[in-house]
Amino acid sequence: MAGEPQADCLFCKIVAGEVPADVVHETETTVAFRDINPQAPTHVLVIPRAHYPDAASLAAAEPGTAADLLAAAGRVAEQEKVTGVGYRIVLNTGSGAGQTVFHAHAHVLAGRGLEWPPG
Ligand code: AMP
Ligand code: ZN
Repeated sequence: MAGEPQADCLFCKIVAGEVPADVVHETETTVAFRDINPQAPTHVLVIPRAHYPDAASLAAAEPGTAADLLAAAGRVAEQEKVTGVGYRIVLNTGSGAGQTVFHAHAHVLAGRGLEWPPG
C-alpha cells in the first residue's frame, strides 16, 4: 500500500530505528538526520516517515506530509543557525538528477558558497 514501509529501503530502516542515524529533528510525520557523506558544513536530510519514492509522489499522495517536510527543513535550518546566511533545499528526483535513495528526502545544505545554477 502507498506510504507503507518497504523492507529493502534504507530510509524506512532509519525511520524504524533498524539503521542508526544522527537524528537532529523529529515530528509526527518526519525525521531529519545528518547526511553520512556531507557536501556542506550543514547537510541534513529530512524524510517523511511514510515511504514514497520521491518528493512529487509524496506531495501527490499526502500533501500535508509534504508541507510538514518543508516546515521541518525550515526548523532544521533554524536549529543549525543558517537562516541568516541562507540555505538550499534540494529534492533530487530520478537517477539522472542524482537520486540514489528512492525514499523521498529533502537535502538541507548550508555553510559554504552555494553556486547557482546548481550542477
Ligand atoms: P540522493 O542522492 O539525493 O538520493 O541522496 C541520498 C543521500 O543519502 C546521499 O547524500 C547519501 O550520502 C545519503 N546517505 C546514504 N546512506 C546514508 C545513511 N546511512 N545515513 C545518512 N545518510 C545517508
Ligand atoms: Zn522507504
